[in-house]
Amino acid sequence: MIIDTHCHLASPKYEDLEEVRRNSIALGVGHCISQGTAPSDWELTLEQARQMPDFITPCLATHPSECMACSDEQLLQMETLCRQNRDSLAAIGETGLDYYWDAPDGCDTETYYARQKMMLERHFALARELGLNISLHTRERKGCACFEDAFAIARNFPGVRPVFHCFIGSREQASRVFEQLDGMISFTGLITFRKTEAVQDVAAWAPLDRMMVETDSPFLSPEPMRGQLNIPGRTRYVAEKLASLRGITVDEVAEATTANARRFFRLPSLA
Ligand SMILES: [Zn+2]
Ligand SMILES: [Zn+2]
Repeated sequence: MIIDTHCHLASPKYEDLEEVRRNSIALGVGHCISQGTAPSDWELTLEQARQMPDFITPCLATHPSECMACSDEQLLQMETLCRQNRDSLAAIGETGLDYYWDAPDGCDTETYYARQKMMLERHFALARELGLNISLHTRERKGCACFEDAFAIARNFPGVRPVFHCFIGSREQASRVFEQLDGMISFTGLITFRKTEAVQDVAAWAPLDRMMVETDSPFLSPEPMRGQLNIPGRTRYVAEKLASLRGITVDEVAEATTANARRFFRLPSLA
């Protein structure tokens, strides 16, 4: 079985979650970690996981792109929700830093980045308090300021392990994640796209016990379905690409990444 370690099932793009589940299981993806990202989807993410406990384990956080839309009071609400639901959460996520998109209208870049960092620190502190790991997002247009800022915050919370989701960094960055943060990296359908040789190189090189696979669905549908609505089942194509890059079988990739996901997200009860 393959586990999709990062998707967004509370997205309004999904009309029939039972169908998504059926189609995912048919592709060999039997479980997924669904990320709440904003006040509007926290309760729904928890409810969907309650409805389909065999298929969904939830995470909650504020996504960096949502930091201006999430008030201080809502941030407190999220922390309370996480404390109340601690035993059913896989991790705190999706949180992180995003320097790719511009600040929303009426907000300057400095204020925007400062609020992202404040929220990320709060999320790390919450993860430490609850004994959970972190599903971490970093994205930037060029350079590595976003990665470095997130890395520096993570360094202040030893014991909380981050997974750098949708990893597109270098070997050197990956090594620092493994050695200095005891962290993981995970790959999306991006590794199936053309012109992503740099991240394919990291996927072929990194230790198998440090990586997981994901879709980030409904986004980032892999080849050969690029541009379509993505579903967790398509983690299979990410696993197939990883297998071909490493010269091993897809079963070997599934076995390793699923074992990693079980440890990282505390999923021992899954068959
Ligand atoms: Zn993300
Ligand atoms: Zn995401």
